[in-house]
Amino acid sequence: MNLIQHFVNGNLSKGDSNRRGKVFNPATGEQTSEVILGSKKDLDNTVLIAKKAFESWSLKPPLQRARVMFKFKELIEKNSDEITKMIVAEHGKVYEDAKGSLTRGLEVVEFACGIPQILKGEFTENVGSEVDSWSIRQPLGVCAGITPFNFPAMVPMWMFPMAIACGNTFILKPSEKDPSCSIKLAELFKESGLPDGVFNVVNGDKEVVDAILVNKDIQAVSFVGSTPIAKYIYENAAKNEKRVQALGGAKNHCVVMPDCDLDQAVNGLMGAAYGSAGERCMAQSVAVAVGGIGDKLVEKLSRKVEALKVGPGMDKNSEMGPLVTKEHLEKVKGYVDLGVKEGAKLVVDGRSLKLQGYEKGFFIGGCLFDDVKKDMRIYNEEIFGPVLSVVRANDFSEATQLVNDHEFGNGVSIFTRDGDAARSFSSKIKVGMVGINIPIPVPMAFHSFGGWKRSLFGDQHMHGPEGVRFYTKLKTVTSRWPSGIRSNPEFVMPTMK
Ligand code: NAD
Repeated sequence: MNLIQHFVNGNLSKGDSNRRGKVFNPATGEQTSEVILGSKKDLDNTVLIAKKAFESWSLKPPLQRARVMFKFKELIEKNSDEITKMIVAEHGKVYEDAKGSLTRGLEVVEFACGIPQILKGEFTENVGSEVDSWSIRQPLGVCAGITPFNFPAMVPMWMFPMAIACGNTFILKPSEKDPSCSIKLAELFKESGLPDGVFNVVNGDKEVVDAILVNKDIQAVSFVGSTPIAKYIYENAAKNEKRVQALGGAKNHCVVMPDCDLDQAVNGLMGAAYGSAGERCMAQSVAVAVGGIGDKLVEKLSRKVEALKVGPGMDKNSEMGPLVTKEHLEKVKGYVDLGVKEGAKLVVDGRSLKLQGYEKGFFIGGCLFDDVKKDMRIYNEEIFGPVLSVVRANDFSEATQLVNDHEFGNGVSIFTRDGDAARSFSSKIKVGMVGINIPIPVPMAFHSFGGWKRSLFGDQHMHGPEGVRFYTKLKTVTSRWPSGIRSNPEFVMPTMK
């Protein structure tokens, strides 16, 4: 059986622990690998290595760090087919979608290539008479990232290229469900000329996460995953005096206005609700049909959901692959059962889907609910599967109220031709990422990614300018070079006269 190890100090390592996790191919249902589940000792040893590596890496001129990034970018491009296949093999999503997610991660590396420009500070000549002042951003030290299963390449790449370009060293704890591509990325980074110990991967579960949270030499923790764990990370990292950004779950709404181009909205919703089998934090799981558009929307959606091509991720004809694990499949099916019990109308039922030759795969067909109500659990909780709920709203203000009342605030979109409605929506909506006639409004690498409310605990979003702020601390220097004149002691606050 293939064994997935840690990557520490530039080498694969078995570490100290005998515990193992199982990694499956979701399309066949077969176990393909074992992953080492690291111990506290493994994590603590890695922190010492990363701390030592920080001493020299943090002093490297940003231009030299950028050159390593440029090489890394080139190697990711060269190896993109292999990395993409790793994502498909362990996550299950379809090849082109997996490739797209890798590209979105690569774009963060491209942004990090500009680090010499980004890290230029601010300078004011003569803040006082013959006194100058400048602000610089310096790296923090050892940073850690804890990532979810649903984007095994992209989400880690929201974090470590930014942290490392800023001069930090990094320890990644990827999801134990699909850890292979983190190891591949670490090997490619080393090949790019990154010194040993700057980027490390420690595989594991709660034991490694808890070791991260209490280790005094880790300065900052970035987390992406479900809301209960995000809150746990936020509270405990902060308690242990670390900087923390913890991104959580989502329930993204798509507001479909009566004046919209309905075919465009339906196509947008299909990709956003069923792409990656709904296992995206920006997946749209609620369609809010405004005014009288509900019946037409449900009719058009149901035809398309029934026609969805579900199959293994490597099959070019597949539009949607399997779910990540058997447990997750059972959980999603359980939510569909619950929706029926709660009284929602199940218009398309994908629960009994079976694929010839892939009977043991973790497949479910697309599911569509109508008449979902605000007090139902299927409306309030994140399902994280290919299940779209249609909620009816009488008017625009009822629709926006629904979105604003929801506990999550990751992404949202509106389909309309009315500029006034769109402008008012983007201004008043309490959500971090907003799309206007855009179904999945994921910000590009040079903007920043993050939600509001219980979709993000912390102050800074990920990558882009906010990523630079998160992975650096600000220092402001005030300086003068007096020549000859000696001033007397001053006992009042200095101000400009
Ligand atoms: P998860 O919360 O189960 O796991 C995330 C990470 O936390 C993993 O590395 C896991 O090993 C670790 N972990 C799990 N349980 C833990 C515990 N009890 N104590 C300490 N660590 C623990 O999430 P997942 O199932 O891997 O990913 C899906 C979730 O991630 C969804 O809720 C999705 O919305 C969310 N997500 C959010 C974003 C975002 O940007 N907001 C992006 C991607 C995914």
